[in-house]
Parts: sequence; C-alpha cells; structure tokens
Amino acid sequence: MATQSNKKVALVTGANKGIGLETARQLGKRGYHVLVGARDPGRGQVAVESLKAEGFSAEVVKLEVTSDADRKAVAHHVAERYGKLDALINNAAIAIDGDARSSNVADDVLRKTFDANFFAVIALTQALLPSIRKSEAGRIVNLSSGLASLGFHSDPSWSFYDFKPLAYDASKTAINAFTVHLAHELKDTPIKVNAADPGWVKTDMGSDAAPLNVTEGAETPVTLATLGPDGPTGAFFHRGKKQPW
Ligand code: NAP
Repeated sequence: MATQSNKKVALVTGANKGIGLETARQLGKRGYHVLVGARDPGRGQVAVESLKAEGFSAEVVKLEVTSDADRKAVAHHVAERYGKLDALINNAAIAIDGDARSSNVADDVLRKTFDANFFAVIALTQALLPSIRKSEAGRIVNLSSGLASLGFHSDPSWSFYDFKPLAYDASKTAINAFTVHLAHELKDTPIKVNAADPGWVKTDMGSDAAPLNVTEGAETPVTLATLGPDGPTGAFFHRGKKQPW
C-alpha cells in the first residue's frame, strides 16, 4: 500500500556525484523528497547524508541503470512506497570514447555507451511510467548535451566543431530522439518530457577545464523537472535557451 507523501517525489539517476548530486540538492531545496540513484549504494548513502545534513529529504536507491533487476526493484519501491513519481531525471551516463574517432571507434565502446546512455534510459523510463502517470504533473528530464546536436556539429563556427566522440555524441542524439518521440506520445497528458543540455560543467566527466560549476550545470535539469503546466514539452534547452536538434 502506497504511503501518501505531502512532498513531491523525484528520482535522479547517477546522483552520487557531479550534476546528478547537485540536481538532487536543488530539488531538495525546492521541497522534493529525492531518491538518489547510485550503482554503489555506499557512495549513494554518503551523498544522501550530505543532503540530509543540509536539511533536505533524501534516500538512496541502488540503481545500476543497465540492470533490469535494479530498474524493476526501484519501480516497485516507488509504486509501493509513494504511489507516484513527480520527476524522473535520467542523468547517469558514461563517456568512454577516449581518443577514438568515427573511423576506428571499437564496437564494444559503442555498445557499452548505448547500453548506459540510451537503452537503459528507455527501459527505466518505461518501468517508471505507470508511477509518473499517477503524478498530477509528471516531468521527465533526459540529460543530453550540446554534443548531441547535429545542427551544432554541422556548423564550422561552433566552438566544439572539432570535438566529435561518436559513441557519446550519437547516444545523446538518440536520447534527443527518445525525448521528442515520448513527448509526442504523452502530449495529451500532463506529463512533460524534455532534454537538458547542462553545458560544459566541472565534474569527473567534464574535467576541471570546464567553465561552469555544478550549480550552473544543474540549473537546466532542475528548471525542466519543475516546469509549470504551461511549460514546454519535447524541447531541448540549455539555461532557458532552446538548442538546435
Ligand atoms: P559524472 O561526474 O561522470 O557523473 C556521472 C554519474 O552517472 C555518476 O554518478 C556515475 O556513477 C553515474 N553512472 C554512470 N554509469 C552508470 C550506470 N551504468 N548506472 C548507474 N549510474 C551510472 O558526470 P556529470 O558530468 O555529472 O554528467 C551528468 C550528466 O550530464 C550525464 O548525462 C552527462 O552526459 C551530461 N553532461 C555532462 C556535461 C559535462 O560537461 N559535465 C556536459 C554535457 C552533458 P559512478 O560514480 O558510480 O561512476
């Protein structure tokens, strides 16, 4: 039997560090109860303790996004404990291209990347959709990237024109396609589905060379997770600005 929660409930995948942890913190600040998805529950618990120390409501859920068993267990927990999910932030991802280029990227790099960044996102979203439909205003945010944009990649004046890690970029382009397609399917429901480009952010993935800090990086996913009823769906944003597909 689901426990009624006065708080809105959000799940952030890969929330033990980086943009995911900061997204969890900012949602906590806005009064959400945050499920901190972490493939290593120990590191997830450390993140949860840091959020609780700041006065926020959070709990860890063990979630290796590529694990069907973990996805099912989390979906079951959400349905049983809360009976709804107000926001799903598909944040967990990997970038493992290294120096590989399109002419020589290894098959297993492409497959591992798509397993984590694309197939797992779809499977988790599908598993949680029944609970998201029970929310009065469900929000699904898919972490994308400027590197997902074929418009940017085709523009020689774009700052990252010469940076083309195929596996990562194509997995995020595919996430943009999922965003548009799912938003279309759900267009007559209150659910909004959007893609967030956080910008180039100082994290383990983004490196210290990045210009944005995690507070700035979490701004886009948090905004899209907390959109009002008149907000967009099926769109791709970076800090309030629509990005080219
Ligand atoms: P990060 O610091 O590398 O953190 C990634 C998070 O995802 C970690 O919690 C990691 O867990 C988790 N993760 C990876 N694979 C997972 C899996 N299979 N199952 C569960 N969790 C998994 O990266 P970030 O910079 O915060 O990136 C967050 C999101 O923003 C990603 O979707 C990324 O593509 C996107 N993004 C980042 C930048 C940037 O400049 N940083 C730019 C554009 C888009 P572990 O700690 O266990 O590895």
